[in-house]
Amino acid sequence: MHKPIVNANNPSIEEFQKQLADFMRQQFHSGRAPASAKAEVSGAAEDGQRKPSADEFKFDYKPREIKSHLDRFVIKQDEAKKVLSVALCDHYHHVRLALEGKESPNYAKQNVILIGPTGVGKTFLIRNAADLIGVPFVKADATKFSETGYVGGDVEDMVRDLLRLADNDATRAQYGIIYIDEIDKIAAANNVGGRDVSGRGVQTNLLKLMEETEVPARSPNDIAGQIQAMMDFTQRGKKAPATINTKHILFIVSGAFGGLEKIVRKRLREATIGFAAKESPLDTSEEVLNRAQTKDFIEFGFEPEFIGRLPVRVVCHSLNVDDLFLILKNSEASIIRQYEQDFAAYGIEVLFSDAGLRRIAEQAGDEQTGARGLMTVCERVFRDLKFELPSTDVKRFVVTSELVDKPMAELQKILADPRQEERIVARQVVEEFATRFGENHGMKITFTPAAAEMLVNEALEKSQSVRDLCAGRFKDFQFGLKLIARNSGRQEFVIDTDAVQAPDKVLSEWVVASYRKEEVK
Ligand code: ADP
Repeated sequence: MHKPIVNANNPSIEEFQKQLADFMRQQFHSGRAPASAKAEVSGAAEDGQRKPSADEFKFDYKPREIKSHLDRFVIKQDEAKKVLSVALCDHYHHVRLALEGKESPNYAKQNVILIGPTGVGKTFLIRNAADLIGVPFVKADATKFSETGYVGGDVEDMVRDLLRLADNDATRAQYGIIYIDEIDKIAAANNVGGRDVSGRGVQTNLLKLMEETEVPARSPNDIAGQIQAMMDFTQRGKKAPATINTKHILFIVSGAFGGLEKIVRKRLREATIGFAAKESPLDTSEEVLNRAQTKDFIEFGFEPEFIGRLPVRVVCHSLNVDDLFLILKNSEASIIRQYEQDFAAYGIEVLFSDAGLRRIAEQAGDEQTGARGLMTVCERVFRDLKFELPSTDVKRFVVTSELVDKPMAELQKILADPRQEERIVARQVVEEFATRFGENHGMKITFTPAAAEMLVNEALEKSQSVRDLCAGRFKDFQFGLKLIARNSGRQEFVIDTDAVQAPDKVLSEWVVASYRKEEVK
């Protein structure tokens, strides 16, 4: 294998760097430029590696606090959230102790393996946790690395990326999080035709990082980076660190681990020979994977030392249509917020009906890519609407299940009769009024279709907001219905056109009837 970049007639990389360094020093040398600029370029600045100090790093979270934060964004994956919260707390409490000089010598770093299919929130979990803790976070795919770092990337690049994300602050980079996806692809047994060696080689390189090593802050091949560092130094006197220590970097690896389930099942079956059967063939994949042990990972193709450095293991579940619906509806990072904002930029309000959200979730489920399917479906549904609506007078529209199924046809309807869309919006608001009423007062009300229609017509005729109309019309209902509930135990009420036309009369009739019931009792 020949080295890239240099051609035989040209200087070697080292010579080239030296020439550049001399040139740059001449160009930028100012009164305050320190004499050690050269040492900086060669990566040997004497105090480039600053030791983090205890008061620079604050961490006083408890596992429950981290989990509650994750709950706001990540739906399901409860076990993963718990296990991660504990691992993160252990790790960062340990970091704090280490910074205070009270480190226990036998501490085993809580690196994590996340097992699970694509798009179920593995990256999302770690990213949100890193945000909360305030540490830099880098994600890479194991498949992009090669043993030598020539064809693919070099595993050390991830550490340098942490440094870049930490704004060249080695202190922060040194307790960042490195997340490596598709780790199962570098298991030796998984690779055929000579890739074995590479997979094993990458494992060895990663192992070095996971244990403890000093990574040069500038890759030897990164001439641009070296120039940048030198310029920063000569111009601003800002010294970039020379190396980054990996001891306190937390490693999280993940993958789908196809084939691991079979290995675990086989072991469980063999273990039961001669004993009462423990494993039922009905156990789900997730239950089986939850029982994976170190030896199963070794059989899968990992080096024992490598897998030994990843003591925390947890399975992320696949997401069903209900979960996808909840992600859309409840996650603070739901993709629908993005669409709301996109349309709001043109003064258009988009309202999502539950039926519309469910339909998006159903279609996304068919994609088999977890929550990523939600993005694909939304992109497809909103493509034409995003193109057409900003140039029209439409100011609101509702995402119904029909719109999700046939966006183009519904778009035509909206454009043909913007008033029709207003009616749909108003209908939606009536439904929302009923839902809020239930949430606020603990009693369920439903409008008959005719009653809802009547409210919508009236609001449109009077150019009044249907929300205000409902609030005014049914203002006494919370008290009246509470009384009825107390008298009769009734919790659900249907509001028909009579109640819309004469709410007070109907309500008092209901109240009277509830007393009668009481007397009969
Ligand atoms: P992977 O499991 O492949 O790492 P990601 O975490 O990258 O999947 O998920 C892709 C996107 O899908 C996330 O950025 C997030 O918006 C959404 N997502 C995935 N899983 C969940 C979940 N459980 N709850 C909320 N959003 C999720």
